[in-house]
Amino acid sequence: MKKIQRSYNSTLNRRSKKMDKQLVKERELKNQLMLHSGSRCELPGCNNQATDKHEIIERSQCGDPTNPFNCVLLCRLHHQIQTDRLVGYINDEAFLKWLILRRIKQGFRPEDYGCGGGSDNLMREHDSIGG
Ligand SMILES: [Zn+2]
Repeated sequence: MKKIQRSYNSTLNRRSKKMDKQLVKERELKNQLMLHSGSRCELPGCNNQATDKHEIIERSQCGDPTNPFNCVLLCRLHHQIQTDRLVGYINDEAFLKWLILRRIKQGFRPEDYGCGGGSDNLMREHDSIGG
């Protein structure tokens, strides 16, 4: 019985370590994006304080919350509007192209995030921008 309990605990530990690493990566990305954006909402025309990291393709849809090409910093207001799907501009093609170019200027390399779960479409967009 003790052996089973030990094995169970070890599985839980491995899982929670994996989750910890994921959270650390997400927090690091948010900090990086905050530095690059001067902690401002990244929606063009908005200059509010950024508070939230929004995933363009949600993790429930296999989007990668640690991929800078899948994440945008938003102020609370715009994140709420986006979450409530009142306005769909974040999925607008022009916005996504703009975001990719912005990330490249910030020093992120698309090839480092090529298999970021859901970012393939963005990468194809990037190829067509480059060409
Ligand atoms: Zn905003």
